[in-house]
Amino acid sequence: MQLLDGKLLSSQIKQEIAADVAQIREQGGKIPHLVAILVGNKGASETYVASKMKNCEEVGMHSTLIRFDPSVSEEELLAKVREVNENPDMDGLIVQLPLPDHINPDRVMETIDPAKDVDGFHPINIGRMAKGLPAYVSATPQGVLEMLKRYDIQTSGKHCVVVGRSQIVGLPMSILMQRNTYPGNCTVTLTHSRTTNLAEICRSADILVAALGKPEFVTADMVKEGAVVIDVGLERVPDASKKSGFALKGDVKFDEVAPKTSFITPVPGGVGLMTICSLMQNTLKAARKEIYQ
Ligand code: NAP
Repeated sequence: MQLLDGKLLSSQIKQEIAADVAQIREQGGKIPHLVAILVGNKGASETYVASKMKNCEEVGMHSTLIRFDPSVSEEELLAKVREVNENPDMDGLIVQLPLPDHINPDRVMETIDPAKDVDGFHPINIGRMAKGLPAYVSATPQGVLEMLKRYDIQTSGKHCVVVGRSQIVGLPMSILMQRNTYPGNCTVTLTHSRTTNLAEICRSADILVAALGKPEFVTADMVKEGAVVIDVGLERVPDASKKSGFALKGDVKFDEVAPKTSFITPVPGGVGLMTICSLMQNTLKAARKEIYQ
């Protein structure tokens, strides 16, 4: 079994991005600028956004965090999104999910300029990604692809099972893994909460991507000997032994599953770190206008 080390990869990728940003600076070019909008102050979202901002600063990018009270109206939020769309200094915009119930996340995503949609959630980017056209690809699936590439994991002809069909992880992951390219060319099965025989389907996976948000759901009996297991899950579970009062758990029961696998991601230290790198790579692309002119 080999660990897919998100910590190691992300530090390499961050060095690459930092070198690119330094070069832009030397040449007097536009320093990439990521803007994040955070509504409310829920612990997990607060932590994710803070980490995104911190990583941007570390590689020399500019970052701006715009905060709103949870009572903000949808119109007020959309007005801010439009303002960022119009600001030529701001290259990338993310709106941290989840949003309060009175705000329609689809309306918010559709209001973001696709050319600044570095999270890759806008329908135009999802559609372009599905067609294999240049697009911002959702950060987490893009991070998984980067991992597969950098560990030179073969994907052609393999059976890839994705558990979870969310628009930000499972669905784009399934589309990307079936594309006629590398990583890709898999035969893909996309599963969800209504799937019957889930354990049996998972057992037939050469590459298993767990993205359902149920801590330690995937157990050893659901995994084929020698499979590649990618654990996207990231949930806080109460843990009195930790100072914070919680521990981070993935969707895979790591201790019993790991010995059966050829490659596996740990949680934490796996996919999560890659997600932040993808976001910064997309922001760099946005500043360089690589996808949209
Ligand atoms: P989500 O929107 O809640 O979607 C969960 C998906 O899992 C749904 O499609 C759901 O099926 C399916 N599901 C739920 N219970 C299931 C079961 N018992 N059997 C089979 N499928 C089941 O979640 P998400 O946003 O994709 O996130 C999933 C996990 O990834 C969470 O733990 C999240 O924190 C984590 N995440 C991590 C990163 C990272 O950077 N590491 C980024 C994003 C998300 P239905 O569609 O039928 O309801």
